[in-house]
Amino acid sequence: MLEIFELAVAYGHLQVLWDVSLTVKEGQLVVLIGSNGAGKTTTLKTAQGLLKPLNGHVWFMDEDVHNMQTHDIVAAGLSLVPEDRLLFPDMTVVENLELGAFAKEPRRQRAETLAWVYDLFPRLKDRRKQKAGTLSGGEQQMAAIGRALMAKPKLLMLDEPSLGLAPLIVEELFSIIERINQEGISILLVEQNVQISLALAHRAFIMENGRVTLTGTGQELLEDPKIREAYLGM
Ligand code: ATP
Repeated sequence: MLEIFELAVAYGHLQVLWDVSLTVKEGQLVVLIGSNGAGKTTTLKTAQGLLKPLNGHVWFMDEDVHNMQTHDIVAAGLSLVPEDRLLFPDMTVVENLELGAFAKEPRRQRAETLAWVYDLFPRLKDRRKQKAGTLSGGEQQMAAIGRALMAKPKLLMLDEPSLGLAPLIVEELFSIIERINQEGISILLVEQNVQISLALAHRAFIMENGRVTLTGTGQELLEDPKIREAYLGM
């Protein structure tokens, strides 16, 4: 579904990714883990077509995303929930959600998808008339994910959705992410919550200093001595 192949990316003269390859197959929940500055966000932004690589390719459903406009990439079924959420603070929750359904087909199915988003996140339904800027951190993350779902993605990329959230909210969020995946949406999840995300992952990739250094199933990496020492403090 998504194939990232030998990606090299730079900001100006500063190269930050080297030879990054990873794949997400249909139906998979794939996790990308790495310390601060490893290059995870850069990888997601390049996959979404927002950054042009120096080298390498990104194919989504067999199309090279760098030959497409970002709104066409979203319409083709690839959506990113960015780390900073980027909600419109002065618009209500429902207005923010509806903005996600801008492409023709999602717009036609808007009412039905909105009902599904409210079913996933009942709290968004309760808060639908509230301004997005007044939501709690967890609710804002839910609204950002809900807005991405309104575009009817086939693959949802999430950049550190648990950042800054209390442990109970994180647990709730991860169980909803798992449910979204079980309902047929493939997921590429960037996370620093290693234990909980590896437990969910069909496949995981570890990034260090701009390179992928290790890959395996979530279970394999949970049992890997290097991961246990470096990321799980065991
Ligand atoms: P974090 O977990 O802290 O968000 P990350 O793994 O997502 O980190 P990136 O945000 O992709 O890492 O950053 C990779 C490297 O690129 C870092 O060294 C960062 O300082 C650098 N970088 C990111 N954005 C820019 C930019 N706009 N201009 C210059 N350098 C950048």
